[in-house]
Amino acid sequence: MPSREEMWEQIPEEVDIAVIGGGITGAGIVRDAARRGLRVALFEQNDIAYGTSSRSSKLIHGGLRYLESYEFSLVFESVSERRVIMDLAPHLVNPLAFLFPVYQGARKSLRMITAGMWLYDGLALFRSPKRHKTLKPGEVAEQEPLLKQEGLQGAPVYYDCSTDDARLTLETIIDAIQNGGVAINWARVDALTKNEQGRVSGVVVRNVRDGSLREVKANAVINATGPWTDDILQMSGPRASKMLRPTKGIHIVVERERLPVEHAVVLFHPTDRRVLFALPWGERTYVGTTDTDYEGAPGEEYATLEDVDYLIAATNHYFPSNHIHRRDVISTWSGLRPLIQPEADTGDMAESQVSREHQIHIGEDGLITIAGGKLTTYRKMAKECVDTALQILKLMGELPEELQSGQTYKFPLPGAVGWPEDDDHDKVADEISEVCECDLSHKVRRHLVDTYGMRALELAKLCAEHPPLLEPIVPGRIEIMAQVDFAVREELAASVSDVMVRRTQIFFRDHQQGLQSVDKVADRMAVLIGWSAEERQQSIDDYKAEVALSQKWKEEL
Ligand code: FAD
Repeated sequence: MPSREEMWEQIPEEVDIAVIGGGITGAGIVRDAARRGLRVALFEQNDIAYGTSSRSSKLIHGGLRYLESYEFSLVFESVSERRVIMDLAPHLVNPLAFLFPVYQGARKSLRMITAGMWLYDGLALFRSPKRHKTLKPGEVAEQEPLLKQEGLQGAPVYYDCSTDDARLTLETIIDAIQNGGVAINWARVDALTKNEQGRVSGVVVRNVRDGSLREVKANAVINATGPWTDDILQMSGPRASKMLRPTKGIHIVVERERLPVEHAVVLFHPTDRRVLFALPWGERTYVGTTDTDYEGAPGEEYATLEDVDYLIAATNHYFPSNHIHRRDVISTWSGLRPLIQPEADTGDMAESQVSREHQIHIGEDGLITIAGGKLTTYRKMAKECVDTALQILKLMGELPEELQSGQTYKFPLPGAVGWPEDDDHDKVADEISEVCECDLSHKVRRHLVDTYGMRALELAKLCAEHPPLLEPIVPGRIEIMAQVDFAVREELAASVSDVMVRRTQIFFRDHQQGLQSVDKVADRMAVLIGWSAEERQQSIDDYKAEVALSQKWKEEL
């Protein structure tokens, strides 16, 4: 992998397609385009997956709840893509059992919900991770002893998948780079350039690290900036109305012991009946999400005390004997859904009613904008968007010869190359011992495999060459210093935050959000990247500010 700095130096003067935004949507597009043999470059103003794509509920799912609003095509598309992504990234996309408790007086009877489960499995052509089943109240009590039993009629169990959204995005980008694409983080598009006819003809990119500028000519420019969509549209020209109606969703993280769930448990909020989940996450459990209109600047959203209390209220309603307190909340995260403003919306449509479907829009100046959609459907959205760009290139007479078909459904992401057919994570963890005859516990090896897939073997080689890298990043935790090296050398990390939030999940999982280790991480990154003392300090300060924003709700106490 070229480093981020090397990639900046190698930015081509001209490409077929320039992509703005390095979330999952942009990542999917650059991968699709690179695999078709197009000259493509992606620019991300912050880190890869800095926006919504590291702040989701981390599920690859069909969206069972959309059956209620008869959005069958959305569910069909999502469950089909769930299958594809499970095959592309089996190390990152893992089956997860969801328990759906049904109580007396529920809006939908147990019979109706079970029928919905059949429909859900049917839309997946019965290729769900596992077929659903229905537990009787006694079985629920055995499997989820802390869940409210009073009035419980039964609980269907169905299957979707959990993932690491930021790493899914990153691996998609790495695959694009390995196939000839260019993707640069910390590179903001400051302006669009236009030709004499007023058509968008390229982008002006700023290297956020040193302020230098580059102009890149492009035959097609794609705006894949999620919640920032309207900002880029504004660069394209003044607009009377906004394309998006962004809504905010937050999650809270607690110790597993404080909320020990074996399944992802589906909860209906006691006040507004919205669906949320309590999700098992190794040594932690997280609860989410909310859905509230947001009007501020993207990137500045945070969980308020009201948001946190809302999630705690739902949790305590369903797990009454295990009362969660505000002090149990280790961390929070908050993200914006880049939802398309419905045409018929007069402002009274509830947030959760706004469709999750994506849209591709072509401006009068030729700017292609893609917005909406889901993490789950990113690959298909990306294909559709590149198909649109190719149609435009064809009309312009700029369609390159000898394009390949791409077939992004077929090729595994980098961590899945060589992955065992039987999806045995432990088998790969054992292989690590062969590569690195060093003192790595099974827990750490398993963590590396779950994080990097087969690429964990490359990381193990780093440990073998340099044993001090075996040291934990945070004393007592499983992440090791080799992950910092790997993040910089192989995964484009360029700030402390990139490592703590998106290459590892220390930000979310550690009680102190890794603050006790930021100096150590920054010292190592300074050596690897060649930071000055000021740059090192700036990176530490930025990370501390990010942690402070995630804890801002406490100021309201
Ligand atoms: P983003 O990830 O936000 O990426 C856009 C990027 O553009 C950003 O990184 C930003 O920095 C960059 N950018 C902006 N301006 C510029 C510029 N001028 N120059 C360069 N770069 C720029 N979907 C699921 O399938 N499963 C889920 O469980 C799920 N849960 C969700 C939970 C919540 C709370 C939310 C908010 C969403 C959830 N979603 C889920 C939806 C999913 O996360 C989003 O649809 C998806 O991540 C959007 O990706 P994106 O690439 O379009 O946007």
